[in-house]
Amino acid sequence: MSEEDLFLHLHKPAKRIKFGVLHTGAGNPKATARWVYEYLRKPLAQGGRWEDGSPNGGYHVFVELDGTAVFLVEDELVTYGVGTTPFDGIKNGNTLHISYAGGLNAGIISRAQVERTEKLVKQYTALYPEIEWLGHNQVSRKLCPSYSAPKFLREIGIQEKNIYDKDHYGIAATLKSPYEYLRIKGE
Ligand SMILES: [Zn+2]
Repeated sequence: MSEEDLFLHLHKPAKRIKFGVLHTGAGNPKATARWVYEYLRKPLAQGGRWEDGSPNGGYHVFVELDGTAVFLVEDELVTYGVGTTPFDGIKNGNTLHISYAGGLNAGIISRAQVERTEKLVKQYTALYPEIEWLGHNQVSRKLCPSYSAPKFLREIGIQEKNIYDKDHYGIAATLKSPYEYLRIKGE
């Protein structure tokens, strides 16, 4: 069985999913998926990120520095990825979240991470033919991910119907595709 077939075999599509959101962990590039998962689950009082924590963490998949993708929770489970946005009904309840270690500044991402993210986006698009992909920064005023999701999605050949193109805060417009950052750095 090819890796693509195995992915489709192991992932049961969740009806709730309409959007796929790309993020960065915006922290230590060496952070493990497990560490980030536990950190986002913990309440603030126990050293976590949010007041009450998030029972399922923030992301469904997390890509570590060496390109290893760790699947953290089933697609059916709602994670705290975007909260509730005022844009096109995009909220935790109808989104799938992919993130990666590092990315504190624009263009900080390893080639292995970009390649693995490309593969994930394509695998999930096969599972969810109507999904619309976006970067968190298109619906929230933050450098997350630290690259332009629309430029990335077009560069890897994702169809226009699967690209959410509105850039509500104008942040994505100031960023490049992650492959472009790698080319500039000569990596
Ligand atoms: Zn984010």
